[in-house]
Amino acid sequence: MMQKVFPIRSAQAAAPAHDGRPLADTLGRALRDLRISVTDRCNFRCVYCMPREVFDHDFKFVAREEILSFEEIARMARLFAGLGAKKIRLTGGEPLVRRDLHRLVAMLAGIPGLDLTLTTNGSLLAKQAQALKDAGLQRVTVSLDSLDDATFKAINDADFPVSKVLEGIDAAAAAGMAPIKINMVVKRGVNDRHVLPMAERWRGTGRIVRFIEYMDVGSTNGWRMDEVVPSAEIVRTIGERFPLEPADPNYRGEVAERWRYRDGAGEIGVISSVTQAFCRDCNRLRLSADGALYTCLFAQRGHELKHLLRGGASDEAIVSEIAAAWRAREDRYSELRTAETAKQRKIEMSYIGG
Ligand code: SAM
Repeated sequence: MMQKVFPIRSAQAAAPAHDGRPLADTLGRALRDLRISVTDRCNFRCVYCMPREVFDHDFKFVAREEILSFEEIARMARLFAGLGAKKIRLTGGEPLVRRDLHRLVAMLAGIPGLDLTLTTNGSLLAKQAQALKDAGLQRVTVSLDSLDDATFKAINDADFPVSKVLEGIDAAAAAGMAPIKINMVVKRGVNDRHVLPMAERWRGTGRIVRFIEYMDVGSTNGWRMDEVVPSAEIVRTIGERFPLEPADPNYRGEVAERWRYRDGAGEIGVISSVTQAFCRDCNRLRLSADGALYTCLFAQRGHELKHLLRGGASDEAIVSEIAAAWRAREDRYSELRTAETAKQRKIEMSYIGG
């Protein structure tokens, strides 16, 4: 019987005034990417993320009144952009279960200089793709762990078929979103034999599949190192069938390592956070659905900001708090990961945003 684990929230950073100095953390890393979790709820129960035994009827999700409003999120996004953030990814939980998400997209799309994107399980994308595009969403990432229905359903644990996700991807393309990226988390013995069919299905289509190493996020998925399929093995498997060559990163700190097909049929990405930790270039900050900042995906605690947002604090006061949290940042969990650290009680990914 699995033990119940509840998300950890709270903790405060000291807040020296923001003084306009370039924002760098203790390891000299700049802030670039912001991931915003718009809800901690999801209509899937992926076994590696929100196992049903834990995220069941009794699970205490964030109360509705605690969730940031679109206006509050948009204000935060503007402040982050002012601090140098270049990219915002809307995520969750499942972002498309948040009603009228396109309204938030429209607010964020109006912030100059921001690359805006969204990660979704695709289940509601067919219905919403056009409204999201019209609101200003140019591109999207869709998670899809197998093209085999039985395997996909065993992973999503919500009896959700592959065909519906494919409809979502088609709808996003028809609405004009590009590029469309497809995330596949690879777990040994579960879907590793589906890596090659996934690569083959999307080669030559303009879609970019990114193969993600199964990670010890949160405390509920019972992660074990022997279930991780190293990215090097994935590149080898695909490359033996369809020769690959390395491609340059689009920018420093890009999460996925890029590989292109030698025959010009496009590219894939691999995200090797377990076997080749990329903490030294990590420029990501996460904002939870209830307004707390997390400086690492594997954090054990966050910096609560909602009291400022709702307590009438000025933009300067909030910026100062964010800057202090970033300057104090020393996280490099993946570089220090061991079987022991994997057992630590960490924030759930569904809460802080994948
Ligand atoms: N619901 C959306 C979705 O399914 O894409 C967004 C949130 S989800 C937490 C974001 C991404 O994190 C998905 O691609 C998911 O597969 C990935 N993910 C979740 N748990 C993971 C784990 N333990 N290891 C690696 N990736 C994981």
